[in-house]
Amino acid sequence: MIGNKPKVLIAGGAGFIGFNLTKKLLSSGNFQIMIIDNFLTSQRANIDELRKYGDFKFIESNIEDLKPDFDVDHIYNLACPASPIHYQKYPIETWKASTFGVFSLLEITKKNKARFLQTSTSEIYGDPLVYPQNEEYWGNVNPIGVRSCYDEGKRAAETLIQDYRRTFDLDTKIVRLFNTFGPYMHPNDGRVVSNFIMSALKNEPIQIYGDGSSTRSFCYIDELVDGLISAMNIQFEGPINLGTTNEISILDLAKLIISKTNSQSLIEFLPAKPDDPIKRKPDLTRAENILKWKSNITLEDGLEKTIKHFQQML
Ligand code: UDP
Repeated sequence: MIGNKPKVLIAGGAGFIGFNLTKKLLSSGNFQIMIIDNFLTSQRANIDELRKYGDFKFIESNIEDLKPDFDVDHIYNLACPASPIHYQKYPIETWKASTFGVFSLLEITKKNKARFLQTSTSEIYGDPLVYPQNEEYWGNVNPIGVRSCYDEGKRAAETLIQDYRRTFDLDTKIVRLFNTFGPYMHPNDGRVVSNFIMSALKNEPIQIYGDGSSTRSFCYIDELVDGLISAMNIQFEGPINLGTTNEISILDLAKLIISKTNSQSLIEFLPAKPDDPIKRKPDLTRAENILKWKSNITLEDGLEKTIKHFQQML
C-alpha cells in the first residue's frame, strides 16, 4: 500500500468487464491501479478511454509472462478470452491464460500476501443438469469439445486456486460470472446481446443458432462490477455465483431487442452450435447471503442503456 490507497492489479483491464471495473475504481479515487492486458480480444481504445477517469499504470503483456516482482495488494483476474467465438478462435491462448496465467498471478499473490479474486464462469457448469445452478453442482462438461478450452480451463483455474489456497494459506476468492452485458462490450465479440443489438440497429437479419428456446440470464455490467468490488472486500473463499435470475429465451431476447430498437430486422434461424448449453440460470442464495449483493436493474432497462451506447458508437 502507498499512503492508504491499496495497489490494485487488474489483469484484463482492457476487456469488457475489466474496463468497466477499472473505470469504477479509478472514479472513486481510492486506489492505485495497474492494468495488464495483451489485447488478444480486448480493445486498445479502452485504455485511452480510461485515462479520462484517472491515472494508472499499463503493462502490455500476457499474464503468463509476468514475474512475481510486483508490489500489489489486490488482484482482480479478468484476463481470458470469454466469448465463445473468441475462445474457439484462440483455444491455446485460452488454456495458457487459464492455467499458466493464473499460476503467475497466484505467485504474485503469494509473494505480496495479496488478495486474489478470480472471475470464473457459469461455463464451468457446462450444459447443466441441475436447475437453477448452485455452487455445489459439479457440472456437465464435455472435456474434448469446442467449448472445452474455456470450460475446462476455468475449471482447472479453480482447482489451481484452491490448491494454492490450501498449500500457502492465501486469501483467494472465486466468483462465477453468468452472462453479462452492457456498454463497452466489444461490438464484434459474437455474444448474443452485442450481435443482436448491432444487427437490429443496422436492420440486418438477427441470427439465432438453433430454435431460440435456449435460455440465458443476463446481468447488467454496472451491477456485476459492484458485485466484484464487494467480493474483493468481504472475507470468503467461494465459489459464489454472480448474475441475475432475469432468464429469457434467445428468441424472446431477439424480439425484445427488435422492439427496443424499432428495428426492421427479420429473425433468421441457423443450425445450433455444438455443446451450446440449453438452460442457464444461477442460484444466487450465496451472493445474497455472503456478499449482500443483488442486481436490481431489469433486463429492459439494461438493454436500453446498452442500445444507447451502441447507437453512439455507430
Ligand atoms: N446466440 C445466437 N445468435 C448469436 C449469438 C449467440 O443465437 O448471434 C445464442 C448462442 O447459441 C447461445 C446464446 O445465444 O445459445 C448465448 O450465446 P453467447 O455467445 O452470448 O454466450 P454463451 O452463454 O453461450 O457463452
